[in-house]
Amino acid sequence: MRRFLVLTLLAAVVGLLLTRAEPLAPTVALETPVDVVGRATPLVVVARDRGTGLAHVEVRLASGGGPVVVASEDFPRRSWLGSGVHEARLTPTVDAAAAHLTEGPAELEVIATDYSWLAALRRAPRLTRPVTVDLTPPTLEVLSQQHVIRLGGSECAVYRVGADAVDSGVTVGDAVFPGTPGFFTDGALRAALFAVAPATPSGTVPTVVAADRAGNRRAVRLDAIVRPRSFAEKSLELSDDFLTRKVPELLEANGLASDGDLVAGYLRVNRELRVATEKRVREICRESVPAPLWEGAFLRLPDSAPLSGFADHRTYLYRGQAIDHQTHLGFDLASLRGSPVPAGNTGRVAFVGPLGIYGNTVILDHGLGLFSLYGHLSELAVSAGARVQRGDVVGKTGDTGLAAGDHLHFSVMIHGVHVDPIEWWDAHWIHDHVESRLAAFPRAGAAH
Ligand SMILES: [Zn+2]
Repeated sequence: MRRFLVLTLLAAVVGLLLTRAEPLAPTVALETPVDVVGRATPLVVVARDRGTGLAHVEVRLASGGGPVVVASEDFPRRSWLGSGVHEARLTPTVDAAAAHLTEGPAELEVIATDYSWLAALRRAPRLTRPVTVDLTPPTLEVLSQQHVIRLGGSECAVYRVGADAVDSGVTVGDAVFPGTPGFFTDGALRAALFAVAPATPSGTVPTVVAADRAGNRRAVRLDAIVRPRSFAEKSLELSDDFLTRKVPELLEANGLASDGDLVAGYLRVNRELRVATEKRVREICRESVPAPLWEGAFLRLPDSAPLSGFADHRTYLYRGQAIDHQTHLGFDLASLRGSPVPAGNTGRVAFVGPLGIYGNTVILDHGLGLFSLYGHLSELAVSAGARVQRGDVVGKTGDTGLAAGDHLHFSVMIHGVHVDPIEWWDAHWIHDHVESRLAAFPRAGAAH
């Protein structure tokens, strides 16, 4: 009996030691290599533990003095055995300046502990990497001057960045317009078309930013004036006939819930589908040919009358009651039913097909982030990826999507941000604001 008790106790102790004093130390790995650490360096650390689970993971930087913790995470105990967390992915953005490190060589260390009783014996870092601390942002020199932008309009900036810049562009509030390299003979120059969206708060200053791979960022305010303007107020009466004809079809085509209530359905289309459509437009406009394909002024749908202008504030009325407000980001142009729609300028077909509220749509990439959109088409005459010349027919006008009658919805966009097409229909404006700025520096590959 006594012997049995001793054996049981022994088994319990061995079991406890095997589980609580397990010899499986945590392992850590850096998912992306890092050799330079700066003011905002993203790290991806994966820590794993096969036994009791992770207890604590921390990232330190050491140079000269003692190590400084720059990121850490605790994994609380969830049972007598430990945390049960066997894998964790940490994605800290490390700031070497905030950790008071000086520029030069340093060591990056990752510590990881688990809930094993042996953890106390394993205090050494699980991973060390020699790194260089670099706190100097890339050089940045803005070369274009005296930018005058109308609210809702476009502009072009030219600037020079240091060789270590991996990312640069013009920021306007939350919007970022990346600069395009490789356009000028001087490889350090960048051209950036940018837009000041109609809803941009007054006082916003367009700013050129450049960042290196350690996340050191330099920002220089552009010499720019944003001229305020007001936009037209319009009201639009929704008829029962229109709602019956359009709402069920649009809800179904775009996978939105339908509860039979036409007004509620219309609001889902006018709000949710509008937002989802613009999100897709921005995705489509993310990649652009790194040189201007367009030449001179954009063509306007011939013999057409504008039904609405850029950034009209629309109030939607149903039986005399205002039920919604939206900003209309483009021009609605009406001509004869089924009129051929010419490409506004030379470009590449970035998208063709049904696109939310715009119905059958063509989007052309004109290079340097400049795009044009043709919506509500009844027929599509181009295929994705095709090169089109200014004036080539891309389709025919129609009333597909959220359109009450046959017309063309025409938009011009910079990296997916809608701008006033009036400027792009005007050869003088394009020359003064874009072409002359680009022509001020020798162009790569140009004949001399
Ligand atoms: Zn429209």
